[in-house]
Amino acid sequence: MTTIKHWIDGRLSSGASSRTSPVWNPATGQQQAEVVLAETADVDAAVAAARQAFESWSQTSLSKRTKILFSFRQLVDARAQELAEIIADEHGKVVSDALGEVQRGLEVVEFACGIPNLLKGDYSDQVSSGVDVFSFREPLGVVAGITPFNFPVMVPMWMHPVAIACGNTFVLKPSERDPSASMLVAELWAEAGLPDGVFNVVHGDKTAVDAILDHPDIAAVSFVGSTPIARYIHQRASANGKRVQALGGAKNHAIVMPDADVDFASDHMVAAAFGSAGERCMAISAAVTVGDAGDGLVDAVAAKAEKVRVGPGRDPASEMGPVVTAQARDRIVGLIGSGAEQGATLTVDGRGYAVDGHENGFWVGPTVIDRVTPDMDVYREEIFGPVLSVVRVETVDDAIALVNANAYGNGTAIFTSSGEAARRFQRGVQVGMIGINVPIPVPMAYYSFGGWKDSLFGDKHVHGPEGVSFYTRAKVITSRWPHVDNPVGASYHFPTHS
Ligand code: NAD
Repeated sequence: MTTIKHWIDGRLSSGASSRTSPVWNPATGQQQAEVVLAETADVDAAVAAARQAFESWSQTSLSKRTKILFSFRQLVDARAQELAEIIADEHGKVVSDALGEVQRGLEVVEFACGIPNLLKGDYSDQVSSGVDVFSFREPLGVVAGITPFNFPVMVPMWMHPVAIACGNTFVLKPSERDPSASMLVAELWAEAGLPDGVFNVVHGDKTAVDAILDHPDIAAVSFVGSTPIARYIHQRASANGKRVQALGGAKNHAIVMPDADVDFASDHMVAAAFGSAGERCMAISAAVTVGDAGDGLVDAVAAKAEKVRVGPGRDPASEMGPVVTAQARDRIVGLIGSGAEQGATLTVDGRGYAVDGHENGFWVGPTVIDRVTPDMDVYREEIFGPVLSVVRVETVDDAIALVNANAYGNGTAIFTSSGEAARRFQRGVQVGMIGINVPIPVPMAYYSFGGWKDSLFGDKHVHGPEGVSFYTRAKVITSRWPHVDNPVGASYHFPTHS
């Protein structure tokens, strides 16, 4: 049995704990490794290493930092296939999708390669006689990232390349369900020339997380995961005086107008609902059909859902893999059952799904539930599985009202050929990321990613300009160099008036 260890101060560490957690292969249902679960002492060791490393890393020139970032970018690109296979084995998603995840992470590294430009300050000459004002931004110190299982490479890469480029040192606490990709990433940072202690990985559960939230030497915490934990992280870390961005769960609606191209909309709906087995924070989980769009869309989506090729992530023929654990499967199956019990129509039922030769895998087939109403559990809960609920409404304003009544505000999309409806929708919905005929509108790395309402606690979104802002703080300097032979005397009014 492989034991996955921590990465602290540039080397592997078994840590102080004897506690471990199983790591499954979701396609076979077999345990393939165990991961050590940190005690507070292990977090302390990682933070001590990061704090020590900050002394020199924060003083390292922009040129040198950039050179390391470019090397890291090169190495991640070269090892993308290996990273994708590690993701497929522990998470379950298909390798082609995992490669897409690595690519989206790589784009954040590429954004961070531009750090000399991103950290340029402002300068105002002669704001008063002989007085100049300028500003620049400095790193915070040791910062931490706590990440979910569903994007084990991309989500941590929303954080550490930007934080490290800004001159911080980093402690990552990845999901204990798929911890191995972070170990290869740590090796690649080291190979790129990053000094020991700048990037550390501590595996663990609530014990490790709480040690991070309470540690006096951690200046900021980035979190991505479910809403109850995001809320908790925000409250506890904020109470301890830390800067916090905590991204939570989602219920993403895709509105289908009667003027939408049904074939186009249903293709994208199926990919957005069932890709990665629906375990994406930007997955479409609610299709909202307007007017008479319902019957045509449900028929098309149901036909395509039944054709999705479900199988092991390593099989190139598979389009959708298993869900992450047996518990996740059981929860999803239970929610599908509740939909039927509460009066919805199970148009395609993915319960009891089996894949030949992989009978013990954690399978749930694509599921379409029609005539869902907002009071049903399938609508209210974030299912985080391959389940598409269809809600039927009369007008685009009804659809906007439905989206806005939902507690979450991560992503949403509209399928239409009407610019007027699209514009009304984009201005009316209280959601952070909006797609117009684009079902999963994940912003590029040079924009910032984040939702509204219960999908984000804190005010800064991740990566892009807001990421740089989150990981730095500003200094504004007002300076005067009086002429030595002709000193200006002090005055009793604001110096800008002279
Ligand atoms: P999760 O909340 O269970 O876990 C996230 C992290 O928190 C993990 O590192 C985990 O070890 C830790 N954690 C879990 N329980 C904890 C507790 N009681 N106390 C302290 N720490 C705890 O989330 P998950 O199941 O790994 O990921 C799926 C969730 O993440 C979904 O809700 C999904 O929508 C969300 N997500 C959101 C975004 C976004 O951008 N908003 C992106 C990806 C995933």
